[in-house]
Amino acid sequence: MPKRDIYWNPILETLPIEKLRALQLKKFKRIVEWAYNNSPFYRKLYKDAGLEPGDIKTFNDIKKVPKTDKGMLRDVQSRPPFPYGDILAVPLSEVTEFRQTSGTTGIPVYQADTWQDWEWWAECWSYILYAQGYRDTDRVFIPFGYNIFVAFWAGHYAAEKIGCEVVPGGVLDTEARILKMKELKCNAFMATPTYVLGMADTARKIGIDPVKDLYVKRITCAGEPGASILTTKRRMEDAWGAKVYDHVGATEIGAWSYECTSQPGGLHVNEAFFLVEIEDIETGEIIDEPGKNGKMVITAFDRIGKPCIRFDSKDVIRWADYSCDCGRTFRIADGGIVGRTDDITKVKGVLLAPTAIEEVVRSISELSNDYQVVVSKKGDIDDILLEIELRPGYEDKKEEILNHLKDQLRVRINLGFRVSIHPFGSLPRYEVKAKRFKDLRKLTREEGH
Ligand SMILES: [Zn+2]
Repeated sequence: MPKRDIYWNPILETLPIEKLRALQLKKFKRIVEWAYNNSPFYRKLYKDAGLEPGDIKTFNDIKKVPKTDKGMLRDVQSRPPFPYGDILAVPLSEVTEFRQTSGTTGIPVYQADTWQDWEWWAECWSYILYAQGYRDTDRVFIPFGYNIFVAFWAGHYAAEKIGCEVVPGGVLDTEARILKMKELKCNAFMATPTYVLGMADTARKIGIDPVKDLYVKRITCAGEPGASILTTKRRMEDAWGAKVYDHVGATEIGAWSYECTSQPGGLHVNEAFFLVEIEDIETGEIIDEPGKNGKMVITAFDRIGKPCIRFDSKDVIRWADYSCDCGRTFRIADGGIVGRTDDITKVKGVLLAPTAIEEVVRSISELSNDYQVVVSKKGDIDDILLEIELRPGYEDKKEEILNHLKDQLRVRINLGFRVSIHPFGSLPRYEVKAKRFKDLRKLTREEGH
């Protein structure tokens, strides 16, 4: 018998590289042909570029296929037929799922999936959860609003598929969720890093120590980069006395990556289901060597309702120069998502990624989990203000902590920040995606990327 105890799919997850690449090429050709034959949007896109599906013969031909991006998806849904435009590759009657993107970067994109697509979502999530140690003996709590966002919906179905006992936290508030987790001795849950930290704070507020009084052994994160930022990961693990694992996916793409229990320092790309290409931001060349940042262009091989082919995700990633002890042959995105091409901004002439600030703030244990960054313009000069909270009990060490923070910001980001300290609990709290970085300069002028 194959080593079922480690892998969700022992054959695909350990496929020799040359077989894996052959499988990817075959599946890539198949989805391009499918989209060309069935989706008016893709057919026009490819015809306009002079591309026929038969033109793709080798891996090198893949870059001839036109890319798509969020702007195109918004544009297509603004045109008839309602509500998805002409991008669907199936009749509308076959669509069974509606979700939409969170709209943090503009008008939400509507997402249609067929039942087959939905089963594919659950299958992809099964790879994630199984690799993170979820088994049929686990009781998994899902503290998520089951709303219009895809978020943890597929995580719920995948946990069921693995055979876990799944407890939907639905409309319960944070306190009630914690009490229910305690009552049922749930040993795993899934949430955004912001909410994982927020839940621990709430638990302590009602006299429950998540480490001693709850039973959580593993937590799966998604939605924000936190679980791949080591200082934030450590903070979550300390707060819960549990292992914290990352996963990155997106509504328009699918659940494309996961951290395994070996935690090599990055995320495995599920290469049996997705093709990830890393493109040099300046030259547009495909980067195959490790250690070099570029933007991710991704294809979902098996999503048939609204295909996702060579989608420019605006995420910045790089290939790892190490393999993983777990034996999976799927390549590793080192450090997860290391930035967003549309988040990286110039402040005082220095290129700044918001995740770098999180890394520093979360490395100082006397600071609370919540903070906010406001970039603005004072005359001609950029001003960057970091608003933080001290944890209760550290008020008399305020100056010392402040100096340490400023030093760390200077050393690690190379920028002078203004820092203001706020009373504990006074900065905004977020349940799903935190919006901690505000660039007020962008409200007055549009920046080209
Ligand atoms: Zn691994």
